[in-house]
Amino acid sequence: MAQVIVIGSINYDILSTMQRAPRAGETVNGETVQLMPGGKGLNQAVAAVQQGVPVRFVGKVGRDLFGDRILSFFAEKGIEASHVGRSADEATGSALILVDATAENRIVVIPAANKQIVPTDADGLAIGPGDLLISQFEVPRATIAALFARARAAGARTLLNAAPALDDAPDSLWSDTDILVVNETELGHFAGTALAGDAPVPEIAAAARRLLRRPDQTVIATLGVRGALAVTAAAQTLVPGRKVVAVDTTGAGDCFVGSLSARLAAGDDLPTALRYANVAASIACTRIGTGTAMPYAEEVKAAL
Ligand code: ADP
Repeated sequence: MAQVIVIGSINYDILSTMQRAPRAGETVNGETVQLMPGGKGLNQAVAAVQQGVPVRFVGKVGRDLFGDRILSFFAEKGIEASHVGRSADEATGSALILVDATAENRIVVIPAANKQIVPTDADGLAIGPGDLLISQFEVPRATIAALFARARAAGARTLLNAAPALDDAPDSLWSDTDILVVNETELGHFAGTALAGDAPVPEIAAAARRLLRRPDQTVIATLGVRGALAVTAAAQTLVPGRKVVAVDTTGAGDCFVGSLSARLAAGDDLPTALRYANVAASIACTRIGTGTAMPYAEEVKAAL
């Protein structure tokens, strides 16, 4: 069976809630603290594996307690992690998240071992036709470019979630990407145009088409509550947002990418996989958290 291969970031999230975040030089008492596995790559891998497809991870953690915990987490989730390396001199990536009583958050991401993911980390990894390689911009761009080129040479497909919006990707990465997924902010950034939150669909489609480098590429713009739009040179598919009571949209984009990838690897055509991912991501919005908010295949199928 085709597999999803995630070249991705791994962070340990340390999330603390408090009435008010401290100002410079100030100490405040917090209310709760939670430790949980996170990072865009890990979250997308969780979303994918919960749709019932084989998922392999290429990444890096430190030789520390967080690294041990991440490897146990992958084992529990059934994510194959033999290509998750351990850095000799960097810690496991982490994110310090402060959430105040108004739900405003302040986040510090420490990439640490994620910075050291190199193409040789995937040495010995079997990549075959039908497999789908996916990555995000929390991984060194040169590494993604090298592995996408290798994937395409092996007849596999590639999906890039260009988030966060960074400008240092080699040109070859854009042309070696079969499916590009961006949210509205990232789309505006890469297309070099300011898109208002309620920009009309034709305007979004035109911006997305500007990112196409080959006639057979697809650009998908996720539109939050408005759903998602996929464009190719010749066609476009709009999937309207599903009506839910959203309580926490953090991780919605990761859920979308992970479940879309799972369904594409399982053989769905693009419109079918899009509809599925849109429903999966809408379910994630009804739950607090990121990794813990990802739905399972049965839940998504029941809501389709
Ligand atoms: P990101 O989290 O990366 O900014 P979006 O906000 O575009 O990405 O959300 C990703 C996907 O999650 C959307 O395409 C949609 O399918 C779903 N989604 C996001 N917010 C909502 C919402 N309020 N109601 C229903 N679905 C949502």
